[in-house]
Amino acid sequence: MVNQPPKLIYKGIIERFREYLPVTDKTPIVSLLEGHTPLIPSEYLSEKTGLKVYLKYEGLNPTGSFKDRGMTMAISKAKEEGSKAVMCASTGNTSASAAAYACRAGMKCIVLIPDGKIALGKLAQAMMHNADVIALKGNFDEALNMVKSITSQYPITLVNSLNPYRIEGQKTAAFEISYVLGDAPEFHAIPVGNAGNITAYWKGYKEYKQVGKNTQLPKMLGFQAEGAAPIVRKKIVEKPETIATAIRIGNPASWKQAEAARDESGGLIDMVTDEEILNAYKLLAQKDGVFVEPASAASVAGMLKLSEAGYFKNAQGARIACTLTGHGLKDPNIAIGNVKEPTVLDADLKVILKHIGF
Ligand SMILES: *Cc1c(COP(=O)(O)O)cnc(C)c1O
Repeated sequence: MVNQPPKLIYKGIIERFREYLPVTDKTPIVSLLEGHTPLIPSEYLSEKTGLKVYLKYEGLNPTGSFKDRGMTMAISKAKEEGSKAVMCASTGNTSASAAAYACRAGMKCIVLIPDGKIALGKLAQAMMHNADVIALKGNFDEALNMVKSITSQYPITLVNSLNPYRIEGQKTAAFEISYVLGDAPEFHAIPVGNAGNITAYWKGYKEYKQVGKNTQLPKMLGFQAEGAAPIVRKKIVEKPETIATAIRIGNPASWKQAEAARDESGGLIDMVTDEEILNAYKLLAQKDGVFVEPASAASVAGMLKLSEAGYFKNAQGARIACTLTGHGLKDPNIAIGNVKEPTVLDADLKVILKHIGF
């Protein structure tokens, strides 16, 4: 018997959710088959919180972060509009994703990164995909202002999350979660940097409720890092600091929309310390076998903080989806700096057996 191809071959988020996205038959789809990431139940975290905890592992996208969902849309639309080049400011993952999708589309990609403040894995990706990487002597917010100014005056498409197609693509993660659970969860926890993703999830959940695919909406729980928490503190943070470089943002581009998601959903936006982030980062790796980059662990750190404060005490058994935004291998230095060094032993069977307890 000849091996038969399955009836349904996965073609990426645009083909899967075409009817909910601003594309037409004329849109050239640039895709790396992003999306369709696992929603992993966590027994450990469920027991700890009394909730049913699900981990949306976005680190398994083609370039290792959720940015690919938005980038397939942004680059496809840029190509449709005849653009020859794209540009972004990035704490890392946007540039890695933009660079990958741009080379697939045959477009030039220029990225501005804040000098010295980018995880090594991400920089390696952008460079391997042949982006023109410019390390700016300034912070992310300055880099973004520069990109806005250049792309508004020259024929280059901006692919930061200010690009409305990014949000459109990213909202598909909320659709996927709703499919797996059969409805929206009661809570959704998510790290907040520029706040595009919380905006996108909220939009996705609302759209699925509007068309009758879901019967309810989750409370959106956003988490910033304590040293980069402008929304929580209600003011711009001039010098944001956190080990979670992907959310090291002092003036979020989608600030107002994040507040709207919080208020419309009856949720909250809170902050977590670097210590709480690292603790969740290690728990995820060591209890659940899920390796994420530090920023991603902010969702779980926040959920644990709220759980300890009694926030969920009247919601025991409720479902919560935690977005894990990026893969742990993006930031190997933080991982290596937070674990034991390898044990150095002689090449002697007895010595090794003794070490492993036999
Ligand atoms: C971009 C990013 C974030 C922040 O998302 P926003 O949409 O900017 O709020 C968080 N974690 C990772 C890994 C990211 O790449």
